[in-house]
Amino acid sequence: MKTLKDKIIVITGASSGIGEAMARQYAAAGARVVLGARQADRLQRIVAEIRAAGGSAEWCAVDVTRPEECRALIEKAASTFGGLDILVCNAGISMRALFDEVELDVLHRLMDVNFWGTVNCCKYALPYLQASKGSIVGISSVAGLHGLPGRTGYSASKYAMTGFLETLRIENLKKGLHVMIACPGFTASNVRFAALTADGSQQGATPRDEAKMMTPEEVARIVARGIRRRRRLCLMEAEGRATHLVKKFAPALLDRLFYWFMAKEPDSPFK
Ligand code: NDP
Repeated sequence: MKTLKDKIIVITGASSGIGEAMARQYAAAGARVVLGARQADRLQRIVAEIRAAGGSAEWCAVDVTRPEECRALIEKAASTFGGLDILVCNAGISMRALFDEVELDVLHRLMDVNFWGTVNCCKYALPYLQASKGSIVGISSVAGLHGLPGRTGYSASKYAMTGFLETLRIENLKKGLHVMIACPGFTASNVRFAALTADGSQQGATPRDEAKMMTPEEVARIVARGIRRRRRLCLMEAEGRATHLVKKFAPALLDRLFYWFMAKEPDSPFK
């Protein structure tokens, strides 16, 4: 965490869950954080609490699907703190529905937030990050390592992030830019409550035992370590590491394991 001291960090999706935990932890470590998300009241409250604890923080209401709002978020960091060292593309939504049943608009929404939201923020942050030889962190998922049944749009959006971010890394190989793809496994947060169902309405409940998951604070700590080590890929718990390994040597077995694991969920859309 010490290496984050004085770093200027923009975090999208900072009004809740993993993004909020990163904002609080990194500010406590001495970073200057700029929080982005749509819910201004939540951002304001978190920023006030960070400042009250002696931290340095700013906020900017942003819908990451809107390029001009992403530009404003990045410019807020530059004008308030004088540049940008780390961009964390964390804003994201999930879904739970079979492709047979899901309305196409749901998949478009997943791509708009998870993929295009990442692209939009990177577009405006890149010149600053090239100047600082900084880091871009994409918060992907284990669903970005292997297809997760019932989450076609989610997995696709995370795979798209990977294709985009890997290419960005290679294009900037000689410019000192660090690009890391972080893949948390199940983490207790609001993401499953807000997940979209087949008709686009929010699920409003979680089908899993949230108490058995990683905490957002654990994820934030592991991401910070990945940034410090300038990792390309940041895997977290046993499931993530196992997925990465089994995919290399026995991808068909992984298909069956993922099916079995997800079919166990109550009200699973497939059996
Ligand atoms: P939360 O639902 O708790 O947080 C999601 C955040 O994204 C919120 O701050 C929300 O803020 C923001 N967000 C959603 N839509 C938009 C938008 N259009 N524009 C700007 N911000 C938006 O979930 P998590 O903390 O779990 O999710 C964070 C990231 O971690 C996501 O990318 C998710 O895919 C990933 N992840 C999560 C896992 C988990 O099990 N929790 C596992 C693997 C990856 P607001 O509503 O205020 O806009």
